[in-house]
Amino acid sequence: MTATTTDLETAAPAVGGPQLPQERRLVTEIPGPRSRELAARKDAAVSSAVGTMLPIYTVAAGGGVVVDVDGNSLIDLGSGIAVTTVGNSNPRVAEAVAAQAAAFTHTCFMVTPYDGYVRVAEALNRLTPGDHEKRTALFNSGAEAVENAVKIARSHTGRQAVVAFDHGYHGRTNLTMALTAKNMPYKHGFGPFAPEVYRAPMSYPFRDGVDGVDGPAAARRAIDVIEKQVGATNLAAVVIEPIQGEGGFVVPAPGFLPALAEWCRANGVVFVADEVQTGFARTGDLFACDDEGVVPDLIVTAKGIAGGLPLAAVTGRAEIMDAPHAGGLGGTYGGNPLACAAALAVIETIETDGLVDRARQIGAMMTERLGALQARDPRVGDLRGRGAMIAVELVEPGTTEPDAALAQRVAAAAHAQGLVVLTCGTWGNVLRFLPPLSIPDHLLTEALDVLDGIFETS
Ligand SMILES: *Cc1c(COP(=O)(O)O)cnc(C)c1O
Repeated sequence: MTATTTDLETAAPAVGGPQLPQERRLVTEIPGPRSRELAARKDAAVSSAVGTMLPIYTVAAGGGVVVDVDGNSLIDLGSGIAVTTVGNSNPRVAEAVAAQAAAFTHTCFMVTPYDGYVRVAEALNRLTPGDHEKRTALFNSGAEAVENAVKIARSHTGRQAVVAFDHGYHGRTNLTMALTAKNMPYKHGFGPFAPEVYRAPMSYPFRDGVDGVDGPAAARRAIDVIEKQVGATNLAAVVIEPIQGEGGFVVPAPGFLPALAEWCRANGVVFVADEVQTGFARTGDLFACDDEGVVPDLIVTAKGIAGGLPLAAVTGRAEIMDAPHAGGLGGTYGGNPLACAAALAVIETIETDGLVDRARQIGAMMTERLGALQARDPRVGDLRGRGAMIAVELVEPGTTEPDAALAQRVAAAAHAQGLVVLTCGTWGNVLRFLPPLSIPDHLLTEALDVLDGIFETS
């Protein structure tokens, strides 16, 4: 072991949680020297295909900050991609996981079961849209759950085709790569992809607006493609994010999702809402489908479900969920006891701490400030999103021509000034904001002040 390694390992391990000082504090350049040493070790040890967007090495996180190994404290506007919605190292989650780890860590639910799994299933059946009878199955990742939703829909319908949408993102496994729209970096060179996956046009108001395509018209446009190119009687499932995540926080026009869901119902097609990014209070509703009262047949959840522990779920109509043969669904770790304990703590936190309302407050604060920015900076072509899931799409002024270079410059400047900000979008020209709902107001305001200053000088 080198002296450097020893130094890094003996650095005082900071304790996370909301007790961390809630401040933006830069004590070195970003990334600092210790992070750069770790980055060099990463390069020598980790596949170069696994990228890091902001290579500060984390030692603690909580409330609204991420603290790095050099002692910098950055404002978190990413939540580890919409995962730590209840706050990083949330005390309820940390305690529940510690207690579960002390009791037992794994049995495999398919071997000797435990009630944490059943309680998570009961909670999801209660909380997800619709008051019909439901069942749930638990998995490890969003992609794995999306794949299982497709398996379940195929088993139920006896049909094979699946429709996904332009700009959609559903994961990186083989079937979900096929469902995902964007080639680079998710699919390039990784084919062949799963067959019987078709793509329909999305409702994208900023880009549809030019032709005056409203929600119902956009739904007719998509349904026409589906009917003519796939055929309803071949179609097992329509898989859609009610607000697209990686694809650019695209919020479909009102009426789009209800019309699609209605068409699916009329044609015996399973309507699958991928709420992996939008779920669990993020959008100012428990689920984004709630906004228009859309009731999906199956809903896929992950990310925000368990405060950072790997867990995902498919929840839906009992008759659909029960269609596959006994033993047809499962996996070694699916519904791991630690992850289930975390999920129950997350759900309790959302309910008792009023986090749905908190997401709306955060959304109002961000929308007001970013709306003022849009009013004075014509490069901010669109401001969209809901609750604590807000984005700005950056373009050449007065057009819809994407300006990815500006998004990269703003993100780089934000990182240098201590903000964890993410980009997204088919063209890479969208800045997205996903703060943890535990962020204090003063940090959110400070982050928006910093962003204003960056736009002035970029
Ligand atoms: C992140 C994401 C996935 C994939 O989840 P993983 O846990 O990374 O496999 C699927 N769908 C959506 C909408 C996502 O945002």
